[in-house]
Amino acid sequence: MKKLFDWGIRASWALPMNGEVSVENDFFLGVKGTDIAFAGPYKPSHKTQSKKFIDAKGMVLLPGLINAHTHLPMTLFRGLEDDVPLKVWLFERIFPLEKEFVSPDFVKTGTELAALECIRFGTTTVSDMYFFVEDSAKAWDKAGLRGIFGQAFMDFPLPEDKKLGPDHFGRFHALRKKFAKSDRIQIALSPHAPYTCSDDLLKKIAATSKETGALLHTHLSESVDEEPESLAKFGKTQTERFRDLGVLGPKTICAHAVHLTPSDRQILKDSGTAVIHNPDSNLKLGSGVAPVAEYLAEGVRVALGTDGSASANDLSLFGVMDLATKVQKLTHNDNTAMIASQALWMATQGGANALNLGDQIGSLSPGKKADFILVDFNFPHLQPVHDPISHLVYSAQGLEVDTVFCNGKMLMKAKKHVSLKPAAIFAKAESYRKKIRAFLAKLKAS
Ligand SMILES: [Zn+2]
Repeated sequence: MKKLFDWGIRASWALPMNGEVSVENDFFLGVKGTDIAFAGPYKPSHKTQSKKFIDAKGMVLLPGLINAHTHLPMTLFRGLEDDVPLKVWLFERIFPLEKEFVSPDFVKTGTELAALECIRFGTTTVSDMYFFVEDSAKAWDKAGLRGIFGQAFMDFPLPEDKKLGPDHFGRFHALRKKFAKSDRIQIALSPHAPYTCSDDLLKKIAATSKETGALLHTHLSESVDEEPESLAKFGKTQTERFRDLGVLGPKTICAHAVHLTPSDRQILKDSGTAVIHNPDSNLKLGSGVAPVAEYLAEGVRVALGTDGSASANDLSLFGVMDLATKVQKLTHNDNTAMIASQALWMATQGGANALNLGDQIGSLSPGKKADFILVDFNFPHLQPVHDPISHLVYSAQGLEVDTVFCNGKMLMKAKKHVSLKPAAIFAKAESYRKKIRAFLAKLKAS
């Protein structure tokens, strides 16, 4: 029998995410090279057509999850005195720590830990913004994952400038050139936020995005005090200011968008800008609840994100999907305000569309990249299986992810990492923890 597929996967259930969110039974996925070659009902001949075959009984197959807003290296600040007032946490803890510790090695180690975690939770694509992007992107690439990494911009010096110099645009162009041939890594432009970037800087970034076609990934209207400040300083909302400076458009993704007016929402819709919803971070930092049910009803594109691990505090999209639906149900006093299938869409094909990767990933479709996961339902909290969609959003915790493929390559097998060695990465993270504790003790004593 001719071998048509490098890998063949038979699963009890599948969510192909083609158009509407529906469940297929006894499904087969054939992988050839980096791509999906076949997706459809299983036939016994599929097994003999596959060089390697996985019989995933009691498991559900779905596209790899997409985390559209992260600060990956911040894994090393996870759980660090986070229940203190936000301003103390940010200005007296996180900022001094970043100034002291953020280096190429810190970024590499934090990204490796994030890669372990993302694979463990079935995330195969992220859109990230932090410092020393080259070191982050290289560590992510080595782990075999897909990602868009944003060169940071703001009016103030960045923690990386001491080592790399002040030319952030030069850095962006050099990085784009460096990763131009990669089929998994892209470089984006990441102005930090409206309140840390001048009009001139934002205009130049918007023009560079249009010239190069690079994604523009920024924060928008996160905390409650940002909009009053913007109105006082500029006489317009952050969204109006972004529109007037040319920042918005189909290549722009805005994390949070919590405190928008109905007219701001219309501006996002008309410009084709995507919103990245981070309910875990928004709730924990007390930022507020983004009106995501309205965004979806009005046709604004929405993807899901975790935000950095210092604010969220993990990189699991399972928790985010669960929270995203429940928070809308709660704030609308309506249990249909957001439903499980909408959360799954945002974490897969909706996320891919927001990142302008919708033609490459997000669904189990022939011709797309073979980014997919198997989630094991052979657990007490996932029995009986009335509805895999409900189980994935409301019952699964994330660690049930059994198998992960990205770009046709297996990264996790039977819940064990294939591409990375956890023990060595944990040891490096622990050595950073010791240094961070010593620094904080000195800081507090001074
Ligand atoms: Zn963020």
